[in-house]
Amino acid sequence: MQLFFIKLKVCSCSDNSHKISSEGAYAACWIRASDPTSAFAKAIFLVERDEWEINTVEIPPTVVTREMFIDRDIGLQNYDSATLRGFSVYYVAWSSEVDQETELTLNTLEKLDKAKYYKDRGALLKKGYCLHPDSSSCCNQIIKAHSIQKNQSLSSISIDNHVYLLSKKSFVDHDSTVCYQKEGINKASTFKGFCKKHDNELFEAIDNNVLVPTEEQVFLYAYRSICRELFEKNKAASLLNANLSSFTKGCAEKRLINNLIEGTNYGLDNLIKIKDTYDLTLSQRTFSDMKFVVFKCNQKPNMAFSGLIYPDFDFLGNCLQDLSDTNKSLSLITVCSAPMEGGWGYLLAWHQENSAVCDTFVASLAELINSGESVEDALFRFIISACENHAFSPCWWDKLNSTHKETIIQRVNEMVDPLSVVSNSYLQTGLEGIVEWSFNEVLTNLEPNT
Ligand SMILES: [Zn+2]
Repeated sequence: MQLFFIKLKVCSCSDNSHKISSEGAYAACWIRASDPTSAFAKAIFLVERDEWEINTVEIPPTVVTREMFIDRDIGLQNYDSATLRGFSVYYVAWSSEVDQETELTLNTLEKLDKAKYYKDRGALLKKGYCLHPDSSSCCNQIIKAHSIQKNQSLSSISIDNHVYLLSKKSFVDHDSTVCYQKEGINKASTFKGFCKKHDNELFEAIDNNVLVPTEEQVFLYAYRSICRELFEKNKAASLLNANLSSFTKGCAEKRLINNLIEGTNYGLDNLIKIKDTYDLTLSQRTFSDMKFVVFKCNQKPNMAFSGLIYPDFDFLGNCLQDLSDTNKSLSLITVCSAPMEGGWGYLLAWHQENSAVCDTFVASLAELINSGESVEDALFRFIISACENHAFSPCWWDKLNSTHKETIIQRVNEMVDPLSVVSNSYLQTGLEGIVEWSFNEVLTNLEPNT
């Protein structure tokens, strides 16, 4: 990631909580970002959060290096701070109340009632319910269900029952960066989305057997990914709403949360419709509704994952569906790792209903491979970019060189940052030569040439 410098001319908002009133100011922003558009969006957010209005852009996003600030104390301090924290903003303001140059710390009033937020959050995180279509009042024993197959998938990559997972930080902490942390596999990737009885009954064919794959198994892996996503999206929507209702006044953070809520609700509506389609397949046991491709690897796995994506761009950088078009039903594809006889499988699965986008998505992967690109790199890139629910073997991660670690962490952060703009080629390039996977076999129920 690069460091951008942006200079804005600003004035304080009416209704500001600045200690000293000013007639005007310059905001100098040092922002770590992958591209100028994301850097600019972040700078605007930070400046508005500090209760300024933007008048003019004096210097648009410009890539800077540390050497450029070497003789300038303040510039260097801010540059270093941005390298560490991701951003740094310095204001130079003028005011008739101050007659000599003074350095002040800008403090704005806290607009979030943190006590209320954390109380609501705690209650929401404890909540569980059963997502089985036949759920009833009998579903009283809600368990922590594993979204990544535990018996062989997670346990086979763990060391002393621990794996590396992405740390979750809440938006409230003012730091949206994520990193990998070691966690016990009993906690890893669990969600309270099924009762004990239904979880045991429903997923028997994948929890106690390796992936063959049968059509039922393919369905179950996909279904579990969808149920987890539905559970997590519901939780995220509730948390954002709790966050929104904890603001004591309007501000830039509140506007951003509002946008995030809109996006989350839209995703949720789609997901509910898609789960209905899957529920129908489950009740009729018409598992041949599923389309799938399995890439089989005869090595020991170094990671495990389970997730889904509404493909926006394909592996060649072509736009597939506009995720912001709220009038359209979105197509989604699920992706999971699964234990197989003598190795493991990388499973892509999608429902035949509304499948055109996913068909094209998978066809673009075939095209990428035919053009001589590495399938292993492409599939690894896909997981890191699109599936937060993944775990690394400590054995693999600890031995990975620091450049590769940084490349992975950088990509993950670009993808989870709500203010970052995603490049249309994010599945086409990046993260090459990091994994040592080697796929030996491809299993699919797709007709040839589709
Ligand atoms: Zn149940």
